[in-house]
Amino acid sequence: MRTRFAPSPTGPLHLGHAYSAILAHDMARAAGGEFLLRMEDIDRSRARPHWEAMICDDLAWLGLAWDGPVMRQSERMPAYAAALDRLWQDDLLYRCTCTRRDIDAALAAPQEGVPAAGPDGPVYPGTCRGKHCGGLPCSMSPRPTETHLRLDMGNACGCLGHRIDSAHGGTFGLPFLETGPAHPGDVFTSRDDYLTRIGDIVLARRDMGTSYHLSVVVDDAAQGITHVTRGKDLFEATRIHVLLQRLLGLPTPLYHHHCLIRDEHGKRLAKRDDARAIRKFRDEGASPDDIRRMVGLA
Ligand code: GLU
Ligand code: ZN
Repeated sequence: MRTRFAPSPTGPLHLGHAYSAILAHDMARAAGGEFLLRMEDIDRSRARPHWEAMICDDLAWLGLAWDGPVMRQSERMPAYAAALDRLWQDDLLYRCTCTRRDIDAALAAPQEGVPAAGPDGPVYPGTCRGKHCGGLPCSMSPRPTETHLRLDMGNACGCLGHRIDSAHGGTFGLPFLETGPAHPGDVFTSRDDYLTRIGDIVLARRDMGTSYHLSVVVDDAAQGITHVTRGKDLFEATRIHVLLQRLLGLPTPLYHHHCLIRDEHGKRLAKRDDARAIRKFRDEGASPDDIRRMVGLA
């Protein structure tokens, strides 16, 4: 068994992170497996070395020792480019020059109805699909790097063929540690669900040369991750990741989507709630066991 913790070094480690990290760490240790650390620092405008240092220090203080060197996504651009090249060659990507405003305007058009909410915001209306390659397959031209690249979900479903229609719950056999999906909406029953509820998501951002979804999938495979524990807020993202694994010929780990840590009023903790930074509790004299108790994992 190999698990990982994959924080973005864009702020301090807080209780929600600690919960996720402790779960992944303890699961690996209980099975005599490995626990790896990966810095998801592709957003160069927000990632900072001092946050990375603080996260590592807090993890060590919590007693969560990781195996091997820390993987940094900012050092993995060639691997992401190779994955994008493969998808481009398979005619699964197209360039998109839309701005946020273009997309909002297209979605506001009367014939669009109420835009469906996908994992990355409103489902993209497909404005640029088939527009930029002059009617030829995009793979006949080199992969551009100066625009967003979107996944052509229709082609992706076509490429996976019966595997997508026969998928149990649209997740290819539910690679979840849980016994099954939590409610009926979790189940994708046809390729139409992929088209209308996820759509043509961005896989390479103009400003990054990659995206969260692509990087996570490439890196989980590169690190040989067998079990992913992540918050329920990433449940819809997991569908995308499993789909990308199939398109890229990568193995699918088992996923466990854990509950989100809530505050004393039952409100979900914000990702950037510095009032719950581990550092703050440390400064106030809390022990690692106190933190475990706070997240219910003592
Ligand atoms: N880096 C992301 C986060 O901190 C996601 C981790 C994951 O993909 O499981 O929310
Ligand atoms: Zn576009």
